Amino acid sequence: KLWDQCTSLLRQDLTDSEFNTWIMPLQASEEGERLRLFAPNRFVKDWVKQHYETQIASLCRGVSEGRVKQVSFEIGALRKQENGASAVLSSNEAADNLVLEQRRAEACLNRAFNFDTFVEGKSNQIARAASIQIGQNPGTAYNPLFVYGGVGLGKTHLMHAIGNAILEANPSSRVVYVHSERFVSDMIRALQHNEIDKFKRLYRRVNVLLIDDVQFFAGKDRSQEEFFHTFNALFEAQQQIVLSSDRFPKEVSGLEERLRSRFGWGLTVAIEPPDLETRVAILNSKATFIGADLPEDVAFFVAKRVRSNIRELEGALRRLAANSRFLGVPVTVEFAKDALRDMLVAQDKQVSIENIQKAVASHYKIRVSDLLSSSRSRSVARPRQVAMTLAKELTKHSLPEIGKAFGGRDHSTVIHAARKIAELRAGDTMIEEDYKILLRTLQN
Ligand code: ADP
Ligand code: MG
Repeated sequence: KLWDQCTSLLRQDLTDSEFNTWIMPLQASEEGERLRLFAPNRFVKDWVKQHYETQIASLCRGVSEGRVKQVSFEIGALRKQENGASAVLSSNEAADNLVLEQRRAEACLNRAFNFDTFVEGKSNQIARAASIQIGQNPGTAYNPLFVYGGVGLGKTHLMHAIGNAILEANPSSRVVYVHSERFVSDMIRALQHNEIDKFKRLYRRVNVLLIDDVQFFAGKDRSQEEFFHTFNALFEAQQQIVLSSDRFPKEVSGLEERLRSRFGWGLTVAIEPPDLETRVAILNSKATFIGADLPEDVAFFVAKRVRSNIRELEGALRRLAANSRFLGVPVTVEFAKDALRDMLVAQDKQVSIENIQKAVASHYKIRVSDLLSSSRSRSVARPRQVAMTLAKELTKHSLPEIGKAFGGRDHSTVIHAARKIAELRAGDTMIEEDYKILLRTLQN
């Protein structure tokens, strides 16, 4: 608990990569006045001691209000016991754990991104289920898996979770997580140093390749060429490939057709922006993780207003937790309003149903009265469904209220519309484009 609080504070002071590399691998055990920190290996231990000892020690003293007087740094690992307590591992188990940690580090995987910490919701259900399958049966379930969706919706988290699951089941599996930008820059470096053969060998011998944000390959012909061969080699050997992108494979412009089509050979799944309930669930789960107190009304308040992505949601929560700790006041809705003021301005501009109807009508070149009419012709019914979905996502009105505002329809019509549009957006690029344009128009 104490260490969770310290890490959430450290996370704010350090860059993501510092935090992930040095703080994340540490495990803590509180023993009276002493906090024992365990690093997976000497390298991490020495580095942390040298660079962060003072900071960590003073944080621990502060957070524990002076109770903890000493912080020690050791090599080793902890295991959760049945009763929830931690035990220092025997040297054998510690060695196993160490191997796993090392393999994780080599694979560039972040331990915190696993399936346990991934909150399921309608918006990510399919992507999560497919990822779990692949974690259990790499190479045989679907190949490749292509996950796409907007920024901050959990694509990277899922990819790490797949890698972690595979390594935990089989530490000798060769897993590599790499961001496409990194793939490109490593390749360029290899070319400069005449080491391209080494580069090729490295990637072609992996069992699981997790390659993030492939839209970065756009326009980079040499990288695409190289990746094409890597892809083929792995695919033919039935090794698992998982790709992510911010859009549907066919939509990634600047990508060779042969790559684009291969990306769609296996299973393509979307991650949608989470709905309100899922946003609340994610906030609650993150709050528990960092040991922050988050009353339900505050969770709803934040989730209602921070809609764009989960990273921002987490940022809001961390800010609340830190401010309330420093000021020594409880987290209330009033407090949240104040602490998050700058984040909320942009989101607070309420969109009205009327504005949505106007925007949708003008986008589809029909009349607002058509949207409210009883006409079922496709040219009117589809825009009406789009408008209802936008009203559900962007306004605070209840479903019955929204139905009523659309010519006196009932709430089940709104639910049906939202489902239909979600389905269409995943498969029909025209609708997806229309929807995005409308979202942008309405939110600006
Ligand atoms: P993306 O790669 O799609 O841009 P990330 O995977 O980096 O998004 O996710 C952004 C942040 O949101 C991460 O801290 C991640 O842990 C968190 N996150 C995303 N989806 C979920 C989820 N379903 N449950 C819990 N945390 C999530
Ligand atoms: Mg990502």
